[in-house]
Amino acid sequence: MSARILDGKAIAQDLRAQFRGQAEALAARGQRPGLAVVLVGENPASQVYVRNKVLACEAAGLHSENIVFPENADPKTVLERIEALNRDPRIHGILVQLPLPKQFDEATVLAAVAAQKDVDGFHIENVGALALGSPRIVPCTPKGVMVLLEKAGISPRGAEAVILGRSNIVGRPMARLLVNADATATICHSRTRDLTFHTRRADILVAAIGRPNMITGDMVKPGAVVIDVGINRLPDGKLCGDVDFESVRPVAGWVTPVPGGVGPMTIAMLLANTIEAAAKAASA
Ligand code: NDP
Repeated sequence: MSARILDGKAIAQDLRAQFRGQAEALAARGQRPGLAVVLVGENPASQVYVRNKVLACEAAGLHSENIVFPENADPKTVLERIEALNRDPRIHGILVQLPLPKQFDEATVLAAVAAQKDVDGFHIENVGALALGSPRIVPCTPKGVMVLLEKAGISPRGAEAVILGRSNIVGRPMARLLVNADATATICHSRTRDLTFHTRRADILVAAIGRPNMITGDMVKPGAVVIDVGINRLPDGKLCGDVDFESVRPVAGWVTPVPGGVGPMTIAMLLANTIEAAAKAASA
């Protein structure tokens, strides 16, 4: 047996074509969706992520603004700019690229973004809405995983879902979305006593730990859906996930590749969240 590939790249491409139509329809109503990306400092990985996000916006016909501050920026200046973006009618989504330099308190900055423009879904109001089971704006990566499952016709209902990682941007919201979709979810982390015990009973296994190739075939239940969120750079410069693709593929039923799995879906969901925010503004 060889697992079927969950091709995030192809699914994201199809979605982007739909987004273009939606963006044009909103533009015709005077609300071209607009995203502002705020970058502080010169972190090379962050610069690549921001560039990709801005390019994706442009390709889908969204208005985008790339706002860059130096590494030593005063937090007050950045907060004032976020306030201005909150009031700007051309901007429907504001994304602050993390991590921020050390003089910043991340929670204060994330709280400064208006909840209805928080297209990352990190504002406490959006986190709370998801926790209460009535999501508003949902974080892009876990939302992208849910869309991948849906497009592949995989229902989480009644499934044992095991999520590796408990971060606020992936693991925790992922578990909430899966529970909202009627899965039984377990979150594992670095203090979990017997990781393999949990991974082996997962019908849906989501790995978001940032450890190259850590999840091997012997840790996976035959036929499981294995979603690899991890993006790790190896010493030779190549990218790999948290899942050892070669040993997992013969065991799993479905598996996402890295690159080309969850990554493109994350960017697609950023566009989706921005378009949804613009549609809300248009109907307000
Ligand atoms: P964090 O570092 O914030 O969280 C990692 C989590 O993994 C923590 O909860 C940690 O546990 C847990 N963990 C670490 N080592 C182990 C271990 N040996 N066994 C079990 N659990 C472990 O990472 P993120 O959630 O931000 O990202 C995770 C990965 O996903 C990274 O590779 C990142 O690059 C990637 N990523 C990919 C995206 C995409 O679009 N594809 C988007 C966002 C992230 P503890 O809490 O105990 O420390």
